[in-house]
Amino acid sequence: MMLDTATLRVALAVVTLTLLCLFYFITFRRTRSPYSGWWCSALLLFLTGSASYLLDGTAHQVWANPLGNTLLVAGAGAMWAGARSLRRDSPKIWYLLAGPAVTGIVSVLDHPATNNWSGGPMMLALMGIMLGLSSRELFLLEVEYSRVHRPLAYGSALLTIFYVGRLLTFLTEGPDGPIFVSYFGSVVTTILTTMVLVVASFTMVELSNEQLTRDLRARATLDGLTGLLNRTAFLDLAVNELRRLSNARTPASLVLADLDHFKTVNDRYGHAAGDMALQAFAAACSASVRSTDLVGRYGGEEFILLLPGVSPERAGEMTGNISRRLQSQQPGIEAKLPTVSYGIAATGAGRADLKALIESADAALYRAKTQGRDQSVLAASFREEEAASAG
Ligand code: GH3
Ligand code: MG
Ligand code: MG
Repeated sequence: MMLDTATLRVALAVVTLTLLCLFYFITFRRTRSPYSGWWCSALLLFLTGSASYLLDGTAHQVWANPLGNTLLVAGAGAMWAGARSLRRDSPKIWYLLAGPAVTGIVSVLDHPATNNWSGGPMMLALMGIMLGLSSRELFLLEVEYSRVHRPLAYGSALLTIFYVGRLLTFLTEGPDGPIFVSYFGSVVTTILTTMVLVVASFTMVELSNEQLTRDLRARATLDGLTGLLNRTAFLDLAVNELRRLSNARTPASLVLADLDHFKTVNDRYGHAAGDMALQAFAAACSASVRSTDLVGRYGGEEFILLLPGVSPERAGEMTGNISRRLQSQQPGIEAKLPTVSYGIAATGAGRADLKALIESADAALYRAKTQGRDQSVLAASFREEEAASAG
């Protein structure tokens, strides 16, 4: 049975247009999620790109054929950007523009008035690369991210392999060769593209909602400037963690850190320089702790760390590492990065009261400040404190 290319293309165009309307009016307008925005752009580009090819064989082919190639590559680039947005990242706009620009230029130089495969190899290669990158982004998401991103990852991987096959066959036997026409021509391409669009629409609503939920959760729990836990989230997590550690009879250390003479950084070099110093300290903390440690911005230029299984002596070594790491950073500002004072308190056997721990760490921090700053001070043990207050 010979399938008729024109009919298949019209069917694909109808499917694409329907999906575009559904994605735009239902998912994008409601969620405004970057994922649905990129997919709407991708569908629009695929639709207009395929429509341009309808002008092949007419006097307009000279501009329509290169335009079609350019739009299709741009559409695959938008798919890549959408997949990447799920990992809260976006490709540089330069990468997204370079592919379509190169495809357009090569196609224009490849006799588009008479050659309806002008720039074909470049278009096929870049489609393969963009689809491969989309698939890679989806595979990089953790398995628990959603129930539906894996099928889309496999769909894009299948399309990538297909485009690589198209490119290789095109290069070896040209667009009129028997293998290209039978296995890699317009009919198979249209059917495979339809399949991937169906999978995409199946996954769209769930992935958009998941992206939105994660974004809201991150905003509610993370400090906007440093990306560390905010105070509320830290305290919530720390209470639970201390309870768990207490049950398991595992000790832990709590550290309060305060940047020294931070006000003078702001006063001398401006608030933006102060912000950069805070970010540099947060980066030094994140790079020095383990994945099981909790790090938060307690407020202003004060930070808080909960280190499970860490003795106060070891916590003192860790704060030394953080300060050394901070001072080894290029400040990115005129100012010297400030030094830091730390107060360290340890959980006693069976003691897991977060409020009391913070109070002792704060008292130790106060001593670090009065003893000349740029140092760590271990809190006196609870028993000593109790004895002192009793005496
Ligand atoms: P000390 O060594 O005793 O801690 O002195 P200090 O100057 O660090 O302490 P102080 O509490 O007097 O000043 C803290 C400053 O931190 C004052 C405030 O303007 C600044 N600050 C708080 N939050 C931010 C912020 O988000 N960005 C910037 N740039 N500055 C902040
Ligand atoms: Mg302070
Ligand atoms: Mg300070």
